[in-house]
Amino acid sequence: MRLHPAAAVATLTLAVLAITPASTVAQDFDEFVAVHAPVIALTHAKVIDGTGAPAMSDQTIIIEGDRISAVGPSGSARVPANAEVVDLTGHTVIPGLVGLHNHSYYTGGNGRAAQLSFSGSRLYLASGVTTIRTTGAQQPYTELNLKQEIDAGRVIGPTMFTTGPYLTGEQGPSTMTLLEGPDQARRVVRYWSEEGVDWFKAYTWISRAELGAAIEEAHRHGVKVTAHLCSVGYREAVALGIDNLEHGLFANSEYDPNKQPDDCPSGFRNDYAALDVNGPEVQATFRDMIDNGVAMTSTLVVYEISVSGRPPIDERVFDVLAPEIAEEVRAISIARRAGRGAIDPAVYAKALEYERAFVAAGGLLAAGVDPTGYGAAPPGFGDQRNYELLLEAGFTAPEVVQIMSLNGAKVLGIEGETGSVEAGKIADLVVIDADLEAVGNLHDTSIVFRHGIGWDSPKLIESVRGIVGIR
Ligand SMILES: [Zn+2]
Repeated sequence: MRLHPAAAVATLTLAVLAITPASTVAQDFDEFVAVHAPVIALTHAKVIDGTGAPAMSDQTIIIEGDRISAVGPSGSARVPANAEVVDLTGHTVIPGLVGLHNHSYYTGGNGRAAQLSFSGSRLYLASGVTTIRTTGAQQPYTELNLKQEIDAGRVIGPTMFTTGPYLTGEQGPSTMTLLEGPDQARRVVRYWSEEGVDWFKAYTWISRAELGAAIEEAHRHGVKVTAHLCSVGYREAVALGIDNLEHGLFANSEYDPNKQPDDCPSGFRNDYAALDVNGPEVQATFRDMIDNGVAMTSTLVVYEISVSGRPPIDERVFDVLAPEIAEEVRAISIARRAGRGAIDPAVYAKALEYERAFVAAGGLLAAGVDPTGYGAAPPGFGDQRNYELLLEAGFTAPEVVQIMSLNGAKVLGIEGETGSVEAGKIADLVVIDADLEAVGNLHDTSIVFRHGIGWDSPKLIESVRGIVGIR
């Protein structure tokens, strides 16, 4: 679908500017805009609204400025006379996705790492991810500045919740804060909180004392903390006041009988295939998390790429990566799944079961891509793959949409503003050129509305083809 009268967009930009600064297109990005008008009517769409409610057919959504002003059956909808009408017969609309583990940097291939301020931001938006939390920054100042540039309309990308530098213990990659104790944790958290980051991420080798200090200092500044843990178990972290936990079962070492306090036991997941997710140990974890309002972030895709026996990586991943990186990622994807470093399919299956059981117990599950590791789960495309993997875990399509949109918004505290297709909310919407429940994937995403501006997904993807992984 192409609805882009360039001249109209140019004149309409001013009108929208008066409504909200967030929906301006300051730069000349016209070629990437599919729909932009003061009033837009998306008619005859199938809507999965993000609340977990079943899909509703033949719906009309009215967008005024940057907000959804009405949603309802097309038969009874009042379409304003001045609305630009987009007939979405045969299409599906879901809320803009809220990616909760969506780094602004990428690692891949043979030890490569790059800040993807340009290509990653575009790929997130093009894939339907309208809000990201970066969940660990390699370049915190780059993120803070990138967020400003996107808000000002000078860079194309999603709404950002930024993170400070990673907080780990004495071990960890050289990009992280290698903490020498709780005092340093407080100092680092205080500095970056005052600089404006929204979250911190603790990492594998942090100690309980350091994590507790970081959480306390962050909360004092109105900033939150999540973690990719190992040396600290989930129940210990909940007791310390953590706000969110990343990676589900893959990062919870507390079921390893050899776990020692403040130590990350190597290979702790090896026996997890036998774990009983309905047993007292796991249910105690879930109860602690739920009682304390601690959400879990699912990042299935970044693990799936290393599980033996899984289907090959989708070719479209290699198509967007820089060619030399694509070659390395392809080679690793084949070797990894066949040999050393592969994740046992039974442990992977258990992780899916764990996430289902967490939701069944009443837990809040959100999702994100984590575009790291050897690089076969790039920004956006990896989020889309998560959609398929959560279906495979046994969630229904409306549940998966909810996990990937409204639940993420809840974790970020913005569920009153975005995360579902409801009147009054910001118009962050994804249009899929298919019946989503029939096709079971998000590959046919065509238009992504962020703050009421409809971006042309295929054109954005085309604009970063061959450079993902390097800039
Ligand atoms: Zn991460």
